[in-house]
Amino acid sequence: ISINGLAEVKHVVLVLSGKGGVGKSTITTELALALIHAGKKVGILDVDLCGPSIPRMLCVKKTEVHQCDAGWVPVYADPKQQLAIMSIGFLLEDSNEAVIWRGPKKTALIGQFVSDVAWGELDVLLVDTPPGTSDEHLSVLENLRKHRVDGAVLVTTPQAVSTGDVRREITFCKKTALKILGIVENMSGFVCPHCSVSIEHIHFNIFSKGGGEELAKLTGSVFLGSVPLDPHLTATLEEGQDFLQAFPESSTYTAIS
Ligand code: ADP
Repeated sequence: ISINGLAEVKHVVLVLSGKGGVGKSTITTELALALIHAGKKVGILDVDLCGPSIPRMLCVKKTEVHQCDAGWVPVYADPKQQLAIMSIGFLLEDSNEAVIWRGPKKTALIGQFVSDVAWGELDVLLVDTPPGTSDEHLSVLENLRKHRVDGAVLVTTPQAVSTGDVRREITFCKKTALKILGIVENMSGFVCPHCSVSIEHIHFNIFSKGGGEELAKLTGSVFLGSVPLDPHLTATLEEGQDFLQAFPESSTYTAIS
């Protein structure tokens, strides 16, 4: 365990989305797993007070958070201790508790939470933020910036480019000088598990298409790729399974691996 929380963390990346339910935590989880498969040591800091879902997606049971001299000790999701997790969910007695907190209490807790985790040596720390842009985001950034932040990955749905939520997200990044590292389009079409002829035959565009790419052009940032709606992915997330291991042949993950 390190002396200073983030001192031995090489990269810090925020994962942002304009609103809830677009797959921000899903992309955070899969990004972490893809990095683990690439041999990296990864941490996830889950500050999503509205729904801290990272522990569930990685099958880490609610646990007591231990303290050492350097701060809160993260929980490891794997026996090799390559994936460290710290979730605001670990600190809440009950998952509805945060909803009733007032702003200052939230920002104070988030501030302390961001600064006081003893991560040790990590290649990448992914920060799963609450949806939208709020005081909580500013508090996260302020505290992370005492160390360093590399930038943010924006998660959007195909049709979201025209919505105010995403525009607000971009304005937030510009105003806070937070670099947009890239954009992932999630829920991009539907992969039917009953047809397995070829990707063209099984891929339906339920929402419109191309929003992520358009957004990338608009912001001058990198389009990282798209992830379709895949029932296998939902199931692996529910069961805390590693999707990349369970479905290594899946073409859905070219985007984020
Ligand atoms: P957010 O963090 O943006 O609120 P989540 O990552 O929690 O959203 O995703 C919301 C729900 O949608 C979850 O139940 C998740 O399993 C599911 N989901 C997200 N992306 C996909 C996808 N590409 N395919 C299938 N299910 C998905």
